[in-house]
Order: sequence, then structure tokens, then C-alpha cells
Amino acid sequence: MKTTIKLPMNHIARAITLLAGAVAATIALSISAPSQAHAESAKTAGVPMAKFQAPGFYRMMLGSFEVTVLSDGTATRHVDEIMSKPEQVRAAFAHHHEDLPAELSINTYLINTGSKLVLVDTGAGELFGSGKDSSSGRLVSNLRAAGYQPEQVDAVLLTHIHGDHSGGLSIAGKRVFPNADVYVDKKDADYWLSQTQADAAPAARRLTFTQSRATVNPYADAGHLKTFNGAQEIFPGISSLPSYGHTPGHTAYVIASQGKNLLLWGDVIHVGNAQFKDPSITIAYDSDAAAAIKSREYLLQLAAGKGYLVGSAHMSFPGLGHIGNSPAGGYEWLVAPYQIQGTY
Ligand SMILES: [Zn+2]
Repeated sequence: MKTTIKLPMNHIARAITLLAGAVAATIALSISAPSQAHAESAKTAGVPMAKFQAPGFYRMMLGSFEVTVLSDGTATRHVDEIMSKPEQVRAAFAHHHEDLPAELSINTYLINTGSKLVLVDTGAGELFGSGKDSSSGRLVSNLRAAGYQPEQVDAVLLTHIHGDHSGGLSIAGKRVFPNADVYVDKKDADYWLSQTQADAAPAARRLTFTQSRATVNPYADAGHLKTFNGAQEIFPGISSLPSYGHTPGHTAYVIASQGKNLLLWGDVIHVGNAQFKDPSITIAYDSDAAAAIKSREYLLQLAAGKGYLVGSAHMSFPGLGHIGNSPAGGYEWLVAPYQIQGTY
């Protein structure tokens, strides 16, 4: 009995070992052959294996509102050359193990209240380059990827008129959001859309005037530009909060639903690596740097004190976080955790 059982077992074990070896060799061949070919063809073509990220949208619920953060892409900037205190900025980037120039995210925020579809800011459109190789101008493709169409947007709220926030309103002079009213503080519209102000502005700022008129005026011409003065409720649960300084009418928006609050503060922070720690650091694009510092301090204190979730236009996508009072002085950015069913 022992012998008869043992012999076949040995044969089977040997057969399995041989078979396993053959299968393993076949698998190894089938894996290595195509991957080598793929690597070779990529090398020959000189094309990087992964050039862009997947569609950039991030969804969350704020009370009963659905919020979808839509990436317009990024803009690469030598921020140490356009911020005050450049040494401090360079040291902050070194501390974060990040190289300069910095690749700044451009984040926009779509709010579905159930009765209105409201977009806060529109990215750069074609102003920072266009085509599939451009790092910005990706808002519309990401909006579609998130399941919405530009025609469905009822209102666009601008934090301010500047290329990377209002630039996506129009492409080639045509309204991208044909059914939307555009809301902006009157101080920004009066400044950036005025020929008199453009003529009086320093040469370096003239391009912004030209771009502002090219992208915002198609809405004004069609009767779709609505201006407001300072703080007011624009739609139920959506209010403006003046934060003047970066531009004459720079505005934050508070989105509130069922006791939850999201503060969308536009360009209150450009370079988180340096400005949370030292909010007195300003950027060359500020219309009034002293007023911009005051607005930054006010909103940082507000967000830290009330525990508001913040959506920050240029923090790394999706730019969602809370504000803490740093034990070392200044503030800190507390990144909101990634959630599959985002409910903050
Ligand atoms: Zn900006």
C-alpha cells in the first residue's frame, strides 16, 4: 500500500513541478516581450510615458449641496521673483523639498444647490496657451468628465477679474457658458473693464485689461453681467464677502448648507508654502498690497476661528483644507483628507 501510494504521488509532484516551471516560463515570456517592445517604441518616439493626469475633478457634499472641484490645470511661475521677501520664499520651498519655479494649481468650484448650478471662477481658458499640450484651460473637459455641460451652468461667480479666474469665460470671443449670468463685485468690473483705467495703468498691467475685456465683455454685451456691492446673499446659501486688495473688488464667497460652511477665497493665498506662516508676504499682481494683507489676515482668522472648510484657488488640487493657528506663529494649512464619499 505504502509503495503504491508513494510512487504515483512522486510522479504527480514531479509532473506538477515541471508543469509549473513551463507555465512560469510562458508567463515570464508573455510579460517581458510586450513590455520590452513598449519601452522600445516609447524610447524611439521620445515621448514621456505619462504626460498628464487623469481628469481632474473632486466631489464632496457640503450639507445638501454637491460641490465639485474642477481643475483648470496648473501654471508654472518663478514665485520667488514675484513675491515680496524672496529669500523667505526660497527657504520655504527648500523646506518643503520643492523646486522653483512652482507649479501652481488652478482650482475652480462647481456648486449644485439642487435648484442652481453655480461655478466659482473659470480658470485661464486660452490665455495661458491652448491645445492638448497646454497645462491650463482644462476646465471644460473636466466639467464634462464630471458629468455636467457648460450650457447647464446658471451662474458664474468671479472672485476677481484676472486671467486665471475670468479667462475661461470666453474662448475666441464666444461665451463658454451661454446660459450663465456672470457675477462680480462692481469695483472690479468698474476697474478692469474701463478704457480710462486701462489708459492710466502702468504698461505691465495693460495686457490684463485687454484680456479682461476680451473674456468678460461678451457677457456684458449679451446682458449677462451682474455686478454687486460688497457683502450680500447672491443665492440662498451663497454669499459674497469682500476681501479687497489683490484687486479693487476681490471677493470671497461663503457657501453654507445645513450648518456646514465652505469659504472660497480666490487669491487670498498664492503660495501656501510661505504665506500661511507669514501672511505679510505679497505678490506683484496685488493692486493694493497693504489692503491685500489686511484681507488675508481677516479671512485666515475667520476660517481658523469658525473652522470653515476653505477652497483655495492656487493650493495643490483640490485645494481643500482647514486653517490652524500655528504654535510657531502665523497659520498652517491643514489639508482635508481624501474621501471616497467626501462629506466634510
Ligand atoms: Zn489667481
